[in-house]
Amino acid sequence: MAERSWSISNVFRGIFTGPEQITDDTWDDLETALITADFGPDVTESILNRLREEVGRHRVTEVKEMKRMLRDAIEERLAAYDPTLQLTERPAVILVVGVNGVGKTTTIGKFANYLKTFDKRIIVGAADTFRAAAVEQLTTWTDRAGVDIVRPQQQGQDPASVAFQTVQRAIAESYEVAIIDTAGRLQTKGGLMDELGKIRRVVEKQAPVSEVLLVLDATTGQNGLAQAEAFIEHAGVTGLVLTKLDGSAKGGFVLSVQEKTGLPIKLIGQGEGIADLTGFTPHVFAQQLVG
Ligand code: GDP
Repeated sequence: MAERSWSISNVFRGIFTGPEQITDDTWDDLETALITADFGPDVTESILNRLREEVGRHRVTEVKEMKRMLRDAIEERLAAYDPTLQLTERPAVILVVGVNGVGKTTTIGKFANYLKTFDKRIIVGAADTFRAAAVEQLTTWTDRAGVDIVRPQQQGQDPASVAFQTVQRAIAESYEVAIIDTAGRLQTKGGLMDELGKIRRVVEKQAPVSEVLLVLDATTGQNGLAQAEAFIEHAGVTGLVLTKLDGSAKGGFVLSVQEKTGLPIKLIGQGEGIADLTGFTPHVFAQQLVG
């Protein structure tokens, strides 16, 4: 995977390129950096306690060593969740859910492209039928990724029927993965959750649902999470996709979001281009985060 320089790294850079010996200021700066980067107060305190204990026990005096300990602590906590995508079913049906604007459409395009690199045959279902523009935008992405799409015959067609047709075609034509886009209208939360429930029921008449991926915008941090709560409560979410990590100084959200929701991060988006989505690797991420 290509190395990327996250803006979050800047948060720690001041600390780890400063004086070589650990001082009281180092601890203060580290606390500020963790809070600024949206690790959240609980995770910040727990990481600081662990580092203080380790630094004391091993009589560490060098900032360089403290940096390694921070990286290890972050990696260990990230790795407590399994980021593996469930793709063994034929077809593997993946529902993609989330509030409008978080990057759901873009993510589906990038995800289809990502799976193609593993030689998977992909079909996408445009089950956000309410907005004609959503279908058009998704089609632009599927064209770009070179994958097939099932579109509604008319605007406002029952989303569940589009989902049904997508899975039906996936089975009949031996696609390996069916990715289904869904609506993200927050205003009609109850209706939206009923719609998602119906999509799930009709899909399950033909094939099990392998994943329900909730897309979250990392730049909105804890606020975005509050908005997405209904999905976590009602939509049977199996994993998270974090988008816009390239533009975010809030990389610490990666850690707090897993611990708050109990859900694993399975994919991360790091740009607007088609190749800017990768699987989630705790080791690589901790390295990129801390530097
Ligand atoms: P949707 O309403 O959830 O379907 O959101 P879109 O897919 O239309 O994305 C909303 C905006 O976010 C668009 O301008 C995308 O280019 C942008 N976007 C999506 N993912 C990323 C990402 O990982 N990084 C950046 N920088 N922008 C992103």
